[in-house]
Amino acid sequence: MPTYDFICNDCRERFDVFLSFSEYGRKPVTCAHCGSKNVRRRMTKVRVAKSEESRMESMMDPSALEGMEEDPKALGRMMKKMGNEMGEDMPPEFDDVVDRLEAGQSPEEIESALPDLGADAGGGADE
Ligand SMILES: [Zn+2]
Repeated sequence: MPTYDFICNDCRERFDVFLSFSEYGRKPVTCAHCGSKNVRRRMTKVRVAKSEESRMESMMDPSALEGMEEDPKALGRMMKKMGNEMGEDMPPEFDDVVDRLEAGQSPEEIESALPDLGADAGGGADE
């Protein structure tokens, strides 16, 4: 279901509303904070999402990864940056790997130090 980004003209708070396409424009939207119907749609959402997407793409650029295998610290910094950008909770192993990369360990060293890594990749049995 799409999320619509609204801002309240009365209390100036912004809030998200989940509406199906058929509900949008028909279902009255009220401010989540003060209950006012004097709300307007914020149009920034799409643009923000797009810029995030292209930023992710540029980070995922394979050529940007070239040489990083030779430079664990740069790889660690990039992974940390990506983790922050995605704003998701990363598993504890993620921080561990980043710390090790930043300490200059090679991915091979890290893998042997953390045998759980990759062992159940794709399995997700623990999730
Ligand atoms: Zn309000």
